[in-house]
Amino acid sequence: MYTLVNACTNEYLHTYCIDASRPIKRRKLRSDVWKEFEPIYEGNLVVQAKCIHCLELLSATRDNGRSACRRHLKVCKERTRMNQLVESMNTGLSPDSLALKNWKFDQEVSRKAMVNFIVLQELPFSLVDHAPFQKFIATLNPWFTIVSRTTVAEDIMSSYEDRRLALRETIKNSNSRVCLTADLWTSNQNLGYLCITCHFIDNDWMLQKRIIGFGLVASPHDGFTLFNALLKCLQEWKLEHKVFSITLDNAKNNNNMVGSLRKNLLERHLMLGNGDLLHMRCVAHVLNLIVKEGFKVIDGATDRIRDSVKYIRSSQARKQRFEEIIVQLGISCEKRPSLDVPTRWNSTYLMLKSAIEYRAVFDVMESQDPNYMDKPSNTDWNMADLLCNVFKPFYDATNVVSGTLYPTANHCFHVLWEVKGKIETLESNTDISIAVMASKMKLKFQKYWDICLLQICVPVVLDPRFKLSFVSFCLDAGFGDKGPAYTEMVKATLQNLFSAYSSMAPDLNYSQPEPNDGSIDEDDCWADFEQHLAAQKRKRVKSELDTYLQDDLFPRQKKFDILQWWMMHSTKYPVVSRMARDVFAAPASTVASESAFSTSGRIVSDYRSRLTSKKVQALVRLQDWLRAEGIFSFNCTK
Ligand SMILES: [Zn+2]
Repeated sequence: MYTLVNACTNEYLHTYCIDASRPIKRRKLRSDVWKEFEPIYEGNLVVQAKCIHCLELLSATRDNGRSACRRHLKVCKERTRMNQLVESMNTGLSPDSLALKNWKFDQEVSRKAMVNFIVLQELPFSLVDHAPFQKFIATLNPWFTIVSRTTVAEDIMSSYEDRRLALRETIKNSNSRVCLTADLWTSNQNLGYLCITCHFIDNDWMLQKRIIGFGLVASPHDGFTLFNALLKCLQEWKLEHKVFSITLDNAKNNNNMVGSLRKNLLERHLMLGNGDLLHMRCVAHVLNLIVKEGFKVIDGATDRIRDSVKYIRSSQARKQRFEEIIVQLGISCEKRPSLDVPTRWNSTYLMLKSAIEYRAVFDVMESQDPNYMDKPSNTDWNMADLLCNVFKPFYDATNVVSGTLYPTANHCFHVLWEVKGKIETLESNTDISIAVMASKMKLKFQKYWDICLLQICVPVVLDPRFKLSFVSFCLDAGFGDKGPAYTEMVKATLQNLFSAYSSMAPDLNYSQPEPNDGSIDEDDCWADFEQHLAAQKRKRVKSELDTYLQDDLFPRQKKFDILQWWMMHSTKYPVVSRMARDVFAAPASTVASESAFSTSGRIVSDYRSRLTSKKVQALVRLQDWLRAEGIFSFNCTK
């Protein structure tokens, strides 16, 4: 009825806007976000907001528009750049000099920065006692008073405690449940450490990940011991009633641990619904098991290439000769052949991929170096080529599902589907060993597909670009007769989940079927008609889940922020959006907890192992939290 008058100034748009006939009264936009967004109206309603920095259009309804805008401002790169530019223009200073102008010395700030440095870099507290370090600091700022190592330890513990309480509060106040990962690692001294991470979507719909547990567990590392350690951690954080899922490697003790957890939560009525999605299998681990199954068949096929790589790396003279031949042949590849760890297929893939580039160099090497005898044959190279081709989708898939900065659950289906397609193509390969390898891998794939079906499919249904129609289309095409049964299982899980979430929010619970009308008298002559009416009504009251599933698909664009979409649609689908929020918090792999071990050599170093278990736990947790806060990104004005 009313049209948008483009010529209106921004200011004017905020209050009144005129169409051809009469003025429309528009609500004044009071929120601060409108300083950085331009409202786009339909009639007198704001429907979109345009970022004045990067011009991105956000959907902005009355209920969730502001939080969407705030969320955008946090990540808008153009805004950061512009702010820096404006500030340096105002002062006539470059960003660097500007930072310097704002800088003033503060003993406390510097002391905190030093403590963070020690924690992040895993340095011994005694660093502060070393004269060269003290001298170095004095040259930077003679007013800075170095504290003792005891004070450093105290500072660390108090910084840890502050953050621990704050984090507990944040998790408590977040509207989402938590998804956990737990991973057991064995140190050089054969001690087992259990690392537990907690993933959740905060109230701004940003994905958060924090290590909440890190500690020694007693042997044997059976399911019961692990469960006790996990429960203790959940109790410390008061999370027992908030658990949505736990992602684990597929191992017997892990399965037993989840069994105990499930039983415990069910008995105490803390489980969400049936807990269909409680136990998530690490998809990176599943991919690993499938590839290993394949490697068993072609065992030995990569030996000559591995030996050759080992050979050229084993002495300086050989390395040099190899380099000379590279120059002679004019090969311009920068990455030299890497040696694999045979138990890790991804390193074998990288070794083959890097060695193939130097095939000609190995040939020349054989003619020039009498000690180099067993160069890879043509068959070896062809096999290497083929294997690279086979394992590339697995390698890429592992990388995708191991990401920590974006939800990964919704990627599993797509990457596994690609892997499935690859395996099926290989089954008809003319090389019999490859065909056998493919059929073994297919068996393994099928085994895990059946175990992981729900965790793979449910997130795709909650991706508005795909939904159930896509999943059932793929399942029918890919599994024939089994397809419809799979679809039914996925549907039932969604329905159960939806019921569980609906009953949690009684005010949103308009979708429950009418209570069975027991009041109808058997002899009542209108009973049949009453039942007919009730059935009609049930049909009419479509559940919110059905509405979501039947609504049009969102265009399938690759760059898509699924959390933002759900935040924007949380008013339209209040219950389903809560489901989606928790489903997408679940990590597809345990790599997030493994990353705590990227410096594993140091965690169990002599220095660290001398610390008490309580201190090690505090240090590992604090290091992870500082990383998550982005404390390491340097900004001297802070
Ligand atoms: Zn922007």
